[in-house]
Amino acid sequence: MSRGKQYLKFEETQDSFRKFEKIKKEKRSLRGRVIDDWLLPSDAFGPFKPSLVENLRLGRVIEVHKRNVFVAEEGDDGFPRTGDLWFCTVAKRHFQRAHKERNFVVVGDRVYFQPEESLQFDTDGTPLDSDLPRAVIQHALIRVTKMARKDPMRPDWEHIMLANIDLIAIVASALNPEVRWGLIDRFLVQAELEKLPVVIILNKVDLLPHAQESRSDFMEKYKKRTEIYRNIGYNVIELSTLRRKTYAEEIKKLRVLFRGKLVGLAGHSGVGKSSIINLMRPEFEQVVDENPDIFYKGRHTTTYNSLLQLGIGGYVIDTPGVRSFDIDKPDPISLTYCFPEMRHLKCQFRECAHDKEINCAVKNAVEQGVVTEERYRSYIGILKGISFREGQNNSRDDALLIADMKARLQTVPGEDDE
Ligand code: GDP
Ligand code: ZN
Repeated sequence: MSRGKQYLKFEETQDSFRKFEKIKKEKRSLRGRVIDDWLLPSDAFGPFKPSLVENLRLGRVIEVHKRNVFVAEEGDDGFPRTGDLWFCTVAKRHFQRAHKERNFVVVGDRVYFQPEESLQFDTDGTPLDSDLPRAVIQHALIRVTKMARKDPMRPDWEHIMLANIDLIAIVASALNPEVRWGLIDRFLVQAELEKLPVVIILNKVDLLPHAQESRSDFMEKYKKRTEIYRNIGYNVIELSTLRRKTYAEEIKKLRVLFRGKLVGLAGHSGVGKSSIINLMRPEFEQVVDENPDIFYKGRHTTTYNSLLQLGIGGYVIDTPGVRSFDIDKPDPISLTYCFPEMRHLKCQFRECAHDKEINCAVKNAVEQGVVTEERYRSYIGILKGISFREGQNNSRDDALLIADMKARLQTVPGEDDE
């Protein structure tokens, strides 16, 4: 469909105008100054094209730099055309917001932008400028989903990393670097909080046969863990991007899963996220870093989150350098909700934290093996705010948690039998 002008009846345009003016008025102070008209609901313009009301166009944020934002205009099908980029700044009146929220524009956001007045267009509405056309972002649409973490610089701020994704792919490598199950559990909690569908991708399984000989305990743990997630109902895909023929089935499953969606990739550097994107025929081949020192890479990478179009039909956003992932003081009720295997258990007290309480259905379930000790340990760790950082030795935390958990489990039986 062309983006050419649609002519509306005079009254219809007036209606649309009035609706938009009403929204803006609600956001004005008594003295008529705009307090905050940054966020708009997706139906702010009713059935009308915002271009007819305020000369605004709808686009997706592709990349955010310090002062500039790259935006791809959305086609009539609602999909961003990443080949038609706009070079945008945010309208000055929103700068107050920038002081209160770090990254108030993030990759995946849908925004209304206004082309610069000097631009000329062809009959289709396509800018004639040979450079990237410039525009000013006036509003953003309320986010449907988001991926956030505690801001490492300002713990009282939420650092939103991605917006409006349809699926989160949690990527880890079986070995080199070894899977950090605790990090996977934290990503899963985030996904559950946002009610986002997830897939767990375990890459580099070609390295497992080496481990089998030298470290049977590692293999046992690996097998048990993957089974735990599958039993809970999570989709776990094990593959190797280096052995495409051997894992053709799994790669196909992943392609089918990604098709038609905006997928957010989460996982730390070195696990093979770029290699996985390259399996999806991205518009730009991703650079696979052959530097084996992942900690070096993790700390020094300065690339930006970027939204990419995939040849298989879909989009991905990679999140480089996610090294820490802390969840802000979760309350026990919502945290329990984020563990599907605990969600439906009924404890004596509704506010039960499943910690020191007696007659706790979750602890009983752990004892009966219905809820695994591994996942329960993750639950307690997140509840108590024990942080998880890449490169940090977690064995001490783990040992403390195991001891703590054993002590707690032993206090359960018999206590309320009398
Ligand atoms: P990213 O940092 O998560 O984007 O990871 P990359 O895709 O850059 O890969 C990191 C390293 O892992 C590179 O040296 C890759 O060659 C290697 N790698 C990626 N996939 C596999 C795999 O399936 N098996 C093995 N053995 N190495 C892999
Ligand atoms: Zn409980």
